[in-house]
Amino acid sequence: MQYLSTRGGMAPKAFCEILLEGLAPDGGLTVPQHYPRLTAAELAELRGLDYRALALAIIGRYATDIPRAELKALIDHTYTAQIFGTDDITPLKPLGDEVHLLALSNGPTLAFKDIAMQFLGNLFEYVLARSGEHLNILGATSGDTGSAAEHAMRGKRNIQVFMLSPLGRMSPFQRAQMYSLQEPNIHNLAVRGVFDDCQDLVKGVGRDAGFKARYRIGAVNSINWGRVVAQVVYYFKGYFAVTRDNDQEVDFAVPSGNFGNIFAGYIAKRMGLPIGRLILATNENDVLDEFFRSGAYRVRPAAQVYATSSPSMDISKASNFERYIYDLLDGDSAQVRELWRRVEEEGEFRLTLGQYERVRASGFVSGVSRHADRMETIRRVYREHGGLIIDTHTADGLKVGLEHRRPGVPLLCLETALPAKFEESIVEALGLKPPRPAGFEDIESRPQRYEIMDVDLEALKRYIAKHA
Ligand SMILES: *Cc1c(COP(=O)(O)O)cnc(C)c1O
Repeated sequence: MQYLSTRGGMAPKAFCEILLEGLAPDGGLTVPQHYPRLTAAELAELRGLDYRALALAIIGRYATDIPRAELKALIDHTYTAQIFGTDDITPLKPLGDEVHLLALSNGPTLAFKDIAMQFLGNLFEYVLARSGEHLNILGATSGDTGSAAEHAMRGKRNIQVFMLSPLGRMSPFQRAQMYSLQEPNIHNLAVRGVFDDCQDLVKGVGRDAGFKARYRIGAVNSINWGRVVAQVVYYFKGYFAVTRDNDQEVDFAVPSGNFGNIFAGYIAKRMGLPIGRLILATNENDVLDEFFRSGAYRVRPAAQVYATSSPSMDISKASNFERYIYDLLDGDSAQVRELWRRVEEEGEFRLTLGQYERVRASGFVSGVSRHADRMETIRRVYREHGGLIIDTHTADGLKVGLEHRRPGVPLLCLETALPAKFEESIVEALGLKPPRPAGFEDIESRPQRYEIMDVDLEALKRYIAKHA
């Protein structure tokens, strides 16, 4: 399998060549030349496979430049009961008649990002060992992504992680998840500023091409293709878990931010998995809901992004969205370039009526869930399902999923985090603290290791140069 850029300006490259890069050199996103379509017989062979075998079958279609036995070893090493709590990796939690949660949050940082990120940690280490290179991962986080990345990269050979976080602005739990890591290759830089200051510092380093090349600066943000492809696996796993044969349809509800998770579901559907609807839920930051209702994509200036109680979905523009539009337009990169020029210059674009009809036909529907909705959904699940507690993001997905529910069609709602991560909101909804999984009881009292830094680009570069 070869990869191209959505903007059309990159010669075809192999999986391992695009894996460590962020954006394509022309500013686009990397995409496979095609999405392999599985025949009915191939699909039938996948039913009954365990998570690891399924991952090998699916990821193997995209990572064709890694020898099969080596890919298998990477996957077998990643998807274990030791790391994800059960051998099932993504077990179901039934919510009554034909509605299920697909539990994706039993990894080391209690959010679904672990599923892809844990694989990426092993994959990066393998690719770097093969090429004899090293990598310095630089990122900014307001909580979830940073901790998933650090837990995936801790102790990996030839990798250093420099993670910027806003000093004093994360929850004590999130802070402990990151700052308590003691591995010398993890550098927590607590910035005297807000998340946007952290993000600006990362962009500032990115603008210095010489520095970036000299220190081999990489990223593990949500546009990383390796992350997207690893997420395709659990759509297959969930589908097989709730159906008896491959003629049945299943709908998926996905709380969405950067469009990475639900885009993986779209790929599964494109590969021939009989997914009916892809139900996209946003919080108050409803750029994507507006798009799927109207065909107008209007990004918000950073200052207009609301801070909500499902913070991992607080985005101004959905970074993976360009991959979807590229596919929708049959790989017409000239049109993609034109649409994103308009986003840059005018902050928006609107599809033609004909194009919008294709959006509708591609299976997406959408809805919004606001603070009061998520509180109500958390209370209702607690009441009706024997004291089950769901987190705020999962509640957004469930609320919108139920609005689009079709009789006779199983509905799978993705559980993207455990409630223990968002204690304050659970206390607000239920008046009690959510239980913590074993090993997390005393996390805030562990010794912490971090470096405090001003919003100072030169100081950041000096720090990286010294520790790279
Ligand atoms: C990242 C995240 C999301 C959003 O996923 P995208 O892939 O960005 O759409 C939803 N819920 C939780 C808990 C997350 O951490």
